[in-house]
This record gives sequence, C-alpha cells and structure tokens, in this order.
Amino acid sequence: MRVVIYSDVLDLAKELIGLANELNAETELILAGMEPDNVVGVDRITLYRGISPEDQELVLEALKQAEADLYLLSNDRRGRELVGLLAHSKGGASIVDATSVKVEGDRVIAERMTLGGKGVAVEEAKMPAVISVMAGKYKPPEEGKSPEIIEKEAPSIERRVELVDKKEKPKVGVPLDKADVVIAVGRGFKKKEDLKMAYELAEILGGVVGATRPLAADLKWMPEEVWIGISGVRIRPKLLIVIGASGQQQFSAGIMDSKVVVAINNDEKAPIFEVSDYGIVADLYEAVPKLIEKLKR
Ligand SMILES: Cc1cc2nc3c(=O)[nH]c(=O)nc-3n(C[C@H](O)[C@H](O)[C@H](O)COP(=O)(O)OP(=O)(O)OC[C@H]3O[C@@H](n4cnc5c(N)ncnc54)[C@H](O)[C@@H]3O)c2cc1C
Repeated sequence: MRVVIYSDVLDLAKELIGLANELNAETELILAGMEPDNVVGVDRITLYRGISPEDQELVLEALKQAEADLYLLSNDRRGRELVGLLAHSKGGASIVDATSVKVEGDRVIAERMTLGGKGVAVEEAKMPAVISVMAGKYKPPEEGKSPEIIEKEAPSIERRVELVDKKEKPKVGVPLDKADVVIAVGRGFKKKEDLKMAYELAEILGGVVGATRPLAADLKWMPEEVWIGISGVRIRPKLLIVIGASGQQQFSAGIMDSKVVVAINNDEKAPIFEVSDYGIVADLYEAVPKLIEKLKR
C-alpha cells in the first residue's frame, strides 16, 4: 500500500509518518517551500522548494501528481481545505477530523469526533481516500529509514485565483494549539477591559489567553486566531482554565485533548463542569482576583 503525506507544518507531517509506519505502508512525504529537517521513517521525500505552502493551487497540483492509495493530511485549516479538492480529483473518498486510521484490505477505517465532540463516528471508505488527521494522535518516529530526496520544479498550472495583496496578521504570541497553559474566556466577562484579569492570570502562569466564539467573532474583543472550538482552534494544553464560558458542545469539542481542565462559572449547572477536572462555582469577578493574589504570593 502506498501512502502520501502532506502538511505545511513539519511536526504534523512527522506525526502522520508515525501513522503511516503503523500501517506498514510505502510512504512518500511531499514538502512545499520547507526543508526536511530530521525526517525519518519515510521512503521518499518530494521537495518542491519553489512552491509556497500558502499557494494552495500549486500544492494541490503537486499532490494530484502523486500516486497513492491513501493521502494523509494534517487537520488544520489548509489541510482540511485540500481534503475535498484532492479526493474529488482522485475520484476517492474524503474524511476529516480523524482521530484514528486503520486499513483492512482495500478499505480504510477512520474514527472521528461527531456531535460537537460528544460522540465518535466510525467511517469506512474504499481507497483511494484522502484523510485529515487531528494533531497529537500519533507519535513522530524517532528513528527509521532515511528517505531518498527528490527535488522537483513547481508544476505549471493555469491559474484561476490571482493573489492581489498580502497582509501580515497581528502576532498573538505563542499559538494557542502549542501552549502548555491556556486561559479561555467567555461571555461571563461583562466588558472588554475586564479581560485584563485573564491576561494577568496568563502571565503569572506563563500561558496564553483564548476565547469562546462570541468574544472573538461577534464582540470582536479578541483576534479570531484565539477562538477555541469546533470551528476554531483545537487546543491541548497541560492546564486549561475556563472562565465565564458555558461549555457548549461547539466550544468543548476544541478542548477535549487538554490534560487538566479547571472551570470558573457562577452557574453550577453550566455544562462546562461536565468536562472539567476541577470546578469553582463562583462569580469570576471575585474568584479570579483571589486566584491572582494567591498565585502571586
Ligand atoms: C455551527 C456552530 C459552530 C460554533 N462553533 C463554536 C466554536 O468553535 N467555539 C465556540 O466557543 N462557540 C462556537 N459556537 C457557539 C456556541 O454554541 C456557544 O454559543 C458559545 O460557545 C457560547 O459562548 P460563551 O460560553 O462565551 O457564552 P455563554 O453561553 O453565554 O456563556 C457564558 C457563561 O458565563 C457564565 N457567567 C456569566 N456571568 C458570570 C460571572 N460573573 N462569573 C462567572 N461566570 C459567569 C454563565 O453562567 C454562562 O455559563 C458555534 C455555534 C454554531 C451554531
């Protein structure tokens, strides 16, 4: 069986190599605009130095040219975008949000989160198939075969999309999905200025601040990069403190891989307590300053 792997985040590509090794597949890694630093466990790396990972049209074309039974992509925004397009062009099946992947004969079986993270769906498809796999599910191999490296020119394509301008996104410090400590804030905060409590707590604990969708998307109190959940970022910190967020399924689906979850909410029936290791039923305006004071001491 042949597997082709693509991600524009090298660490995620390495996790997918870990999965391909479990499947005992002949594996090719495709890299666009990046170097194959410390990559082991694949048979071949096809290196497109002339393709920027942002150029989805060219990346798609490069992937179309690679022949495989199974295409494994990372489950980030760009990976998920490519899944459907590539599956369509290969006449195969597509599955996103996979948490595990197995192969039986000519079929691939993937588990994925469903119902906003409340359930697990098992999906089976005939290969060829294109699957995006969630981060943190497979271990990158530490040793294994050294790959043959083949360098290729960017394919020539007739463009349907023209890049007219590029703007830098404002930097938000450590990306949320890489942070060890996250403070997640919700609509329990009454004013934007009150969020400084959350930032102070994050600073003391060496963490970053994330938010529920209403705070980022509706109220625009925070940048969209820090919105946690099924339609935002999925996080996996060692410690997550959720303050003034109800814990609706769409939010909680994004925090399922967190190690320790602490929730502060003044409603003892808030669903966030069902997915928390520790719960504090309190007014955040009383509890958070006390917590800050204690931690400072
Ligand atoms: C298709 C779809 C996709 C979505 N995707 C996402 C997503 O990715 N991420 C996401 O976050 N949402 C998402 N949502 C929205 C989601 O359903 C919820 O509406 C949202 O998560 C609620 O945000 P919240 O917890 O901040 O607000 P609320 O649900 O209003 O909760 C506020 C909480 O604060 C508590 N509170 C109030 N005052 C205080 C106080 N003084 N002290 C302590 N606690 C207090 C309340 O008890 C309440 O539990 C999605 C919705 C849809 C339909």
